[in-house]
Amino acid sequence: MRAVPEVPAVPDMRAVPEVPAVPEVPANVPEVAANVPEVAADVPEVAADVPAVPADALVVLVGPAGAGKSTWAAEHFTPTQVVSSDACRAMVADDPTDQAANGDAFRLLHAIVGARLARGRLTVVDATNLQGAARRPLRQLAARHGRPMIAVVFQVPVEELLRRNAARERVVPEDVVRWHASLVPAALAALPGEGYAAILEV
Ligand code: ATP
Ligand code: MG
Repeated sequence: MRAVPEVPAVPDMRAVPEVPAVPEVPANVPEVAANVPEVAADVPEVAADVPAVPADALVVLVGPAGAGKSTWAAEHFTPTQVVSSDACRAMVADDPTDQAANGDAFRLLHAIVGARLARGRLTVVDATNLQGAARRPLRQLAARHGRPMIAVVFQVPVEELLRRNAARERVVPEDVVRWHASLVPAALAALPGEGYAAILEV
């Protein structure tokens, strides 16, 4: 029996939400079974109703909690095209807010993203993706499968973020929302150097 890998240490995610425990994508793990065809021949050139999104793209949403990422994704893409950190936490821990489950949740998210990109399926990553460490494994997966990447940045004033956050069912601690908002400028500065075919702003 193979040794079970240790669960990586996960910091208190209230202080450091969502991103730091994301592991690198190992280079030597085969992504798909040998009999899975690479890309369907009839993939349309453009999918969804967002211009500039190729049908085999990896769409990386970038924005604070409460910015409207999930709302926007649901408006423009099908449910199976959207892979969300909330859904992955729910699948592994029965609680979409359980930040202590991030290690497993992001391993699952990366596995799904990798499988979809291997098949040439348009894939939207609905997570905050505010830090380079969160985007790096996604960029690795897109590169490995030769898929174009699109970034979609949600720029919402912090007061509006707090208003939206307070009004919804799943309220994130206010300091986390403020911290997320403080990360947006650095993300905006970094994105142009990360190889996206387009950077859209919402
Ligand atoms: P999280 O990272 O916490 O999952 P999110 O970025 O996915 O947050 P949403 O859940 O989509 O954010 O939206 C947060 C709240 O803001 C929801 O109540 C949603 O209805 C509202 N909302 C989303 N988009 C808009 C918008 N364009 N204008 C006003 N309110 C919005
Ligand atoms: Mg969301």
